[in-house]
Amino acid sequence: MHRPPSEHLASPRAYDQAPAGALDSLRTVVFRQTLRGYHIDDVDRYLEQVAVEVDALRGRHGQAGTALPAVPRRSAQRPAVRTRAGDGLTWAPAKGWAVVTCMDARVDVRSLFGGVGPGDAHVIRNAGGVVTDDVIRSLSISQRVGRTHTVLLVHHTDCSLLAITDEEFARDVTRESGCRPSWTAQSFSDLDDDVRRSIDQVEASPFIPRKDSIRGYVYDLATGNLRQVEGKAQLARTARSGSGAPMWGGWW
Ligand SMILES: [Zn+2]
Repeated sequence: MHRPPSEHLASPRAYDQAPAGALDSLRTVVFRQTLRGYHIDDVDRYLEQVAVEVDALRGRHGQAGTALPAVPRRSAQRPAVRTRAGDGLTWAPAKGWAVVTCMDARVDVRSLFGGVGPGDAHVIRNAGGVVTDDVIRSLSISQRVGRTHTVLLVHHTDCSLLAITDEEFARDVTRESGCRPSWTAQSFSDLDDDVRRSIDQVEASPFIPRKDSIRGYVYDLATGNLRQVEGKAQLARTARSGSGAPMWGGWW
C-alpha cells in the first residue's frame, strides 16, 4: 500500500459523484493520504468506497424531511464559543432553574418563562417530559453540582404520549423486536394529573435535596400560554395556610 507520495493531486473520479457538502472532506482526505505516502490511485479507490457508502446512506436517509443535521466547520463554530466565554457564563445555570419537559419539537424552551437564554437553566427532555429514574439522576446532579434550586416541570397540549397506552406500545415493540422492553412508555391520559404525579415524584425522591420550589405547568401549543398546576402536597399546604398559589408575576 505504501508508495512514494504522489505529486498528482488531480481530482479523483469520486469527486464527480460526491455530494456538494462532502467535497471539502474529500479534498482533506486526498491531501492527508497523499502526505502519508499513499498513491493517488489508492486514495481514489478509497474515495470511491466513500461515495458508495454515501449513496447507501442517502438511500436510507434521503427522503424529504429526514436529512442528517449539518455540523458547522470548526472555524465557523469558534466565534460563538468565544462570545459565550466572554459573556461570563459558567456551567451552573444563572437563574438556578432545572426545566423538565417533552422532547416534542414544537416546544421551544427558549420562549418559556419569559425567556430562557444560554446559561440560564438546565433543560432535561424526554418523551412526555415525565419523571423517570434518569430525570431524577439529572435533577440530583443539577442541584448538587449545578446548584439549581427550582424544578420546573412542563407538559404540553397535543402530546404524543396522550395518544398511546403503555400496554399497546409495549405489545407493538415486543412484536417487532422479539423482546419486551424493561421500560414503559409512561403514557398518560390527563395532562394535569400527570403534571401532579410528576411533582409528587420529585417531592418524594430522597435524591433531590432542594424541594421548596418544585412547580408544574401545562404549555398550550396553540396559544403559547403556560398554566400552573399544583401537586397534591402543594394543594394541601395551600389549603392549610389559606394562601393562594405561589406565582411568579409577569412571566406569561
Ligand atoms: Zn410531548
